[in-house]
Amino acid sequence: MAQWCDACDRPVEGDVCEVCGASVVDVPRAPVPWRWRFFIVASIIYLIWRIYQIISWLAH
Ligand SMILES: [Zn+2]
Repeated sequence: MAQWCDACDRPVEGDVCEVCGASVVDVPRAPVPWRWRFFIVASIIYLIWRIYQIISWLAH
């Protein structure tokens, strides 16, 4: 199974990239941080609030 070098954006045979020499051993992917999820949810709520304000402003 080929690994992937993020730096070179190319598949790598083995554990070390032949191009940049970086180790491409599978690192367990970190889950999406809670802070980031909170930021996305907060942005969506803010957007909905702004749209609601615009609609109520137009209705007057
Ligand atoms: Zn590389």
